[in-house]
Amino acid sequence: MPERNPFFPEISGRLGLGCMRMPRAGDGVDMPLTEKLVDLLMARGYNYFDTAHGYVDGKSETALRRLLVERYPRESFVLADKLSTAFFERQEDIRPLFESQLAACGVDYFDFYLMHAQREDLYEKFMACRAYETAAALKAEGKIRHFGVSFHGTAAFLERLLDEQPGIEAVQIQFNYLDYPDPVIQSGACYEVCRARGVPVFVMEPVKGGSLARLPQAAARELGPLGDVSQAGLALRYAAGFDGVAMVLSGMNSVEQLEENAALMERPAPLTEAERAALDRVRDSYRTMDLIGCTGCRYCVDGCPARIAIPDVLACVNNQRLYGGDKSAYYYQNVYTYKRGRASDCVRCGQCEHACPQRLPIRELLAGAAAMFDT
Ligand code: SF4
Ligand code: SF4
Repeated sequence: MPERNPFFPEISGRLGLGCMRMPRAGDGVDMPLTEKLVDLLMARGYNYFDTAHGYVDGKSETALRRLLVERYPRESFVLADKLSTAFFERQEDIRPLFESQLAACGVDYFDFYLMHAQREDLYEKFMACRAYETAAALKAEGKIRHFGVSFHGTAAFLERLLDEQPGIEAVQIQFNYLDYPDPVIQSGACYEVCRARGVPVFVMEPVKGGSLARLPQAAARELGPLGDVSQAGLALRYAAGFDGVAMVLSGMNSVEQLEENAALMERPAPLTEAERAALDRVRDSYRTMDLIGCTGCRYCVDGCPARIAIPDVLACVNNQRLYGGDKSAYYYQNVYTYKRGRASDCVRCGQCEHACPQRLPIRELLAGAAAMFDT
């Protein structure tokens, strides 16, 4: 059984199922596989599930209702949901949205409710719509047990946010060994802000959208001296090894992944000196590869007027840089632009960049993809 959660007694352990990456079947959720994952997580003594209204095109909440809520006693699991900017425009929209989320999940309260993807510009909208006040009222009514934020801004803005919103009980940040020192993502600096304020940290993207579990060959070679070591395991132990980390969310979408993570997170062993040194070398190796830091979250896709499969196109660019050859061009031409826009169809509206939590210069990157594949 996992260790006790040091911050929230109702959470068992520090590993949670991130439902943004629920296994898919066609346009929806792979229900049989997701049922296995839910059952396995619960059987291994963990109980935290993180979703949002837009995950899996709105189907993650209802999948959790059927596979978790309707099959387990309410007090046996901890459910986190989020208020996402795409689903409200005015203060009056928020309560009906919240009620629809409760109904979709089949619960009458959320254990955690997070203001989703907070950064400076979105915070202004949340403030204008009195979202924080509404969440506080919902908490007072017992419909939210804990209130927090998921965060994609700068460390300086996080300081301001925590000053202005003292009711925040947890901050969910992107946190992994590549992003820790990154001057754009500022994971390390955001972590330090949370520590200085004593606010528990919930980690998202510990394996950076799976990419730290599938290291490029040159980077993987740096782990050689460690022998037969799990890449994903190192990334999870890195994140779990920081004081103040209350939760590590993993988008586990196979039984093997879940088994491995569950075992490892029971009592995550701190990284050894040799492991830390190897991760430093992996980081250095990444720097030389000039890869695009897209995590595949797909937040940018729905609003693209040119219907470009942006993360897939960017993955083709990364693949081409890593391996050369003609495979990436084949996939670009025949798979990712089939009935979709090409990189050269981008009308440079900027919608995608506004949606991108990684703050990627997508227009510029697509211009590069167009030069690579469309000429
Ligand atoms: S800038 Fe280009 S890729 Fe981005 S949403 Fe607009 S058309 Fe799509
Ligand atoms: S480009 Fe940004 S928003 Fe789009 S999938 Fe990649 S990380 Fe997510």
